[in-house]
Amino acid sequence: METKYPVMQVRLVRRRKSRCNVLKGACPYCGKTHTHSAGRGSAPRLGHRVSHCRRKTSQDRGYILKWDGVIGKK
Ligand SMILES: [Zn+2]
Repeated sequence: METKYPVMQVRLVRRRKSRCNVLKGACPYCGKTHTHSAGRGSAPRLGHRVSHCRRKTSQDRGYILKWDGVIGKK
């Protein structure tokens, strides 16, 4: 059986100082904003991630990061 993961819509935030971009989005589990590394390349690293929830819920299996080309400032 295939495991289904929820999708987390993210925006890309470029960081000038560290060169390492981040992805930010609202968590499908807890609703809070979580930040994940996007890697150093021009194309952000997407796919499945372990959730960053402070309090893990029982249905928490992580989520799939989805980016539609939105670039944010924060
Ligand atoms: Zn969360």
